[in-house]
Amino acid sequence: MEILKQRILEVGVVISDQVVKLDAILNHQVDPALIMELGKEFARRFAETKPTKVLTVESSGIPIAFTTALELGIPMVFARRKKTLTMDQDTYSERVPSFTKGIVTDIMVSSNYLGPKDRILLIDDFIANGDAARALIRIIEKAGAELTGVGIVIEKLFQSGGSSIRERGIRVESLARISSLAGGRIQFE
Ligand code: 5GP
Repeated sequence: MEILKQRILEVGVVISDQVVKLDAILNHQVDPALIMELGKEFARRFAETKPTKVLTVESSGIPIAFTTALELGIPMVFARRKKTLTMDQDTYSERVPSFTKGIVTDIMVSSNYLGPKDRILLIDDFIANGDAARALIRIIEKAGAELTGVGIVIEKLFQSGGSSIRERGIRVESLARISSLAGGRIQFE
């Protein structure tokens, strides 16, 4: 997506050879018009897989999953990172190492909102090593739901997350594909 690449080049801050900061449009401040376009693009690519729900993990996946679900006319569910007082007791949970925070957290989804009848489109902002996506896939499997595909806004091709999931025969679509961040330069495939 050309518009996405342009915005990444405009506002992206390369933190290291591994990490690019996109707080201006995606991870802190959110650009609604851009996020709407991303949602439309994911909906266009995945409509034929007939998902019944979009699943993501809080917090940065939420806006993109929301616009995708809005466009597809289906609900969006986000995995929580903290159990709240009001949350259902019956949850599917998985442990996931956080790429940017350097800690391990538990993510959970209530069994009321994910079950064997669901066809799930998984959406997230970045894929690096693929830990977040794999944890969400394990939650989908535990719930007995079916995964229809994985939509990622930014795939970093020099990390193995995307390929490790494709190797399992799962369709992964990424809207911007970064081949290198070396020397502080963002290079696309
Ligand atoms: P993974 O689990 O695939 O290793 O990492 C995915 C998660 O880490 C994403 O949901 C995202 O929040 C965060 N992440 C990974 N790489 C980057 C990056 O280069 N920049 C930012 N801002 N977040 C990243």
